[in-house]
Amino acid sequence: LTTTDLIEEHRICVCVRKRPLNKKELTVKDLDVITIPSKDVVMVHEPKQKVDLTRYLENQTFRFDYAFDDSTTNEMVYRFTARPLVETIFDRGMATCFAYGQTGSGKTHTMGGDFSGKNQDCSKGIYALAARDVFLMLKKPNYKKLDLQVYATFFEIYSGKVFDLLNRKAKLRVLEDGKQQVQVVGLQEREVRCTEDVLKLIEIGNSCRTSGQTSANAHSSRSHAVFQIILRRKGKMHGKFSLIDLAGNERGADTSSADRQTRLEGAEINKSLLALKECIRALGRNKPHTPFRASKLTQVLRDSFIGENSRTCMIATISPGMASCENTLNTLRYEEEVSPQ
Ligand code: ADP
Ligand code: MG
Repeated sequence: LTTTDLIEEHRICVCVRKRPLNKKELTVKDLDVITIPSKDVVMVHEPKQKVDLTRYLENQTFRFDYAFDDSTTNEMVYRFTARPLVETIFDRGMATCFAYGQTGSGKTHTMGGDFSGKNQDCSKGIYALAARDVFLMLKKPNYKKLDLQVYATFFEIYSGKVFDLLNRKAKLRVLEDGKQQVQVVGLQEREVRCTEDVLKLIEIGNSCRTSGQTSANAHSSRSHAVFQIILRRKGKMHGKFSLIDLAGNERGADTSSADRQTRLEGAEINKSLLALKECIRALGRNKPHTPFRASKLTQVLRDSFIGENSRTCMIATISPGMASCENTLNTLRYEEEVSPQ
């Protein structure tokens, strides 16, 4: 089966991406406990101790549509995940691609590009790769004759509130009209004519997203970033691709935090990730009722969870270290629960 077949069958593709051990993990001699024995299997080898203090490995196996090891490039991950969904929006469909996982596991690296070090490069992220292929597709005779325009939006959902990353984090209201259409009022939708236009917007949005952070990763790890590519024909929506860099899923510790704001944010993130799981399950099982109102995230993505021609892809990013084992297992279990098979 090709990815396209899988998505046709289930409307959902679920993948896992392992990143390499980073400098910090290498320095403290953290062990790599993840193996990818074949292209759709992830194994977690967790060192444990029996009561009599003998040591053993607890091996757990998970199977997904694709498992990418730590040598896989963004371009390869893209080819098997978001790439088939570019076709969907040209066929008047709604596509979504999520990066899900613990903070530091590689969500932003996968979606936004490389932001480590000085030479920040968003051109290798899935946002940019998808945009590149949208402009390539537009040149094909079949689509050229449709005279489609391309627009982009970039916003953030933080503690249940929506902020426009292309308009200095203006706070936006979400309204649902009588016909159950959800609107983010005042969201900037910028016309883009080439990949370079899109790269500029990604840079603006990213710098807006990270500005004013008190500690590294603090804010961006607690917010969902949504980047959208919208195709319009004579002003009317033709297709929409939403690419989402989700908030870190490691919120367990927050519930006991002394800080009220931290507890509330943690609860909000848990709620939205739970709602997301239910919505994707509903999509995969063709259930009539999608509980999209349970969180702001699922509410603004409402039109992506309903309709005949909606397709979703989930990329779970995992850290290889033993120290991250518990979070990694939580991520893999969540992925199992959204998987249709
Ligand atoms: P997250 O967004 O999930 O919090 P990041 O994308 O910021 O995580 O990744 C954390 C760090 O790990 C960054 O320095 C990033 O460049 C690096 N990293 C993540 N994934 C990979 C990968 N597949 N290969 C190499 N480095 C990676
Ligand atoms: Mg991030």
